[in-house]
Amino acid sequence: MKIAVIGCTHAGTFAIKTILSENPDAQVTVYEKNDNISFLSCGIALYLGGQVKDPQGLFYSSPDELSKLGATVKMNHEVTKVVPRQKTITVTNLETNQTFEDSYDKLVVTSGSWPVIPPIKGVDNPNVYLCKNWNHAQKLFETAPSKKRITIIGGGYIGAELAEAYSTTGHEVTLLDGADRVMSKYFDEQFTSVVERDFADHGVTLGLDQQVKEISGNGPVTIKTTKGTYETDLIVMSVGFRPNTDLFKGELEMTENGALITNDYMQTSNPDIFAAGDSAAVHYNPTHSLSYVPLATNAVRQGILVGKNIVKPTVKYMGTQSSSGLKLYDKTIVSTGMTMAAATQRGMNAHEVIVKDNYRPEFMPSTEPVLMSLVYDPVSRRILGGSLLSTHDVSQSANTLSVCIQNKNTIDDLAMVDMLFQPQFDRPFNYLNILAQAAQAKEAK
Ligand SMILES: Cc1cc2nc3c(=O)[nH]c(=O)nc-3n(C[C@H](O)[C@H](O)[C@H](O)COP(=O)(O)OP(=O)(O)OC[C@H]3O[C@@H](n4cnc5c(N)ncnc54)[C@H](O)[C@@H]3O)c2cc1C
Repeated sequence: MKIAVIGCTHAGTFAIKTILSENPDAQVTVYEKNDNISFLSCGIALYLGGQVKDPQGLFYSSPDELSKLGATVKMNHEVTKVVPRQKTITVTNLETNQTFEDSYDKLVVTSGSWPVIPPIKGVDNPNVYLCKNWNHAQKLFETAPSKKRITIIGGGYIGAELAEAYSTTGHEVTLLDGADRVMSKYFDEQFTSVVERDFADHGVTLGLDQQVKEISGNGPVTIKTTKGTYETDLIVMSVGFRPNTDLFKGELEMTENGALITNDYMQTSNPDIFAAGDSAAVHYNPTHSLSYVPLATNAVRQGILVGKNIVKPTVKYMGTQSSSGLKLYDKTIVSTGMTMAAATQRGMNAHEVIVKDNYRPEFMPSTEPVLMSLVYDPVSRRILGGSLLSTHDVSQSANTLSVCIQNKNTIDDLAMVDMLFQPQFDRPFNYLNILAQAAQAKEAK
């Protein structure tokens, strides 16, 4: 069986490894337009902030490793055309500029995503940088020491992490966003207001609720927004991602933003073409609908599923809660499933409780407060989402809530489910039990 793979970062790497371990005789050829594979972009802010010392540690595989496993690895090769009816692809060798055709029995689309570049006047200014792949990372690493004023456009996860990193390394940081809160898609106001306070305490200027209209000049660069003017030395654009699926326009079913729609076995609308990762849509469990959630968590899981299902449909995709988390300054901030704002926006019947409680008893030498929210359906009582914020490491509690959503658990399940008690860690009821008990109390009123 001849398998061609387009793109090799996370979804591609995991797909290839699984295909070859399950089907050692498969002829796998991977075309990757860059000169590297498996770069963990999440390390960019960690390196800029000084926590990661060696960026080479941000790669977990290599072309050599995939070759040794039996793949034919074509780096610096871009797939420029796909003809599904003939099962052929056209490829350009970016080093020699030569173009050739290849054929496949099965095609794996792991071509990922690219940063959204909004149609702002002057957005092609040389001082506007992107933050996605290893090439972008190297440019950011090179420029960071020489630029004093840094402006991040886009206050999502990536923008927030970059703002934090630059603000701890002696830069003057401005974070701009069209929404009136940072990370508004991921957390409700009670959480984002804490983050905004922390940014202010660390000297980050927040320019929220304003659209960037124009970028001009070169040393300094001027940014005009609907509310004001900012001078800066460098801009990082991080307003979101869109799937790299132009090759399949008119050929495969897509969502509105171009994410490839797959079935539970990662087959697109053409059963011989599989898709995974940022190029594909996900099944979002809290709403049972298609969604675009470009996360490495989804990419590696979907990549493995491509490998498991490439010969015949075998293992079903479980969907996602879009669980995610970050550490900003001294706080862990994590979420899974829906925020109350997202549920309200979708017109869903949802209730929310917000609880602040110490994670372990006050008689211990120290304890820390945990801010928690739980979003649930008041009729079925099923959990739809939750968030936690604390200086204590609460990251694994988001994973517990994720399992609850995946398994369709109710607030009553979470209120009483067995969780360990030991004063080092928590109270006789873990703080997640307490959160769900607050939801029960609210519904009993
Ligand atoms: C700064 C940053 C921080 C992040 N932090 C996290 C995090 O903490 N947790 C998390 O879960 N996710 C995180 N993500 C998201 C995560 O990086 C992506 O979800 C993940 O990279 C998706 O992997 P992928 O393999 O599907 O696609 P991509 O990483 O986009 O890779 C696609 C590959 O396909 C290649 N390609 C595209 N078109 C072609 C073509 N025509 N021919 C040949 N090759 C092609 C590209 O060169 C690329 O190498 C972060 C992303 C960024 C940018």
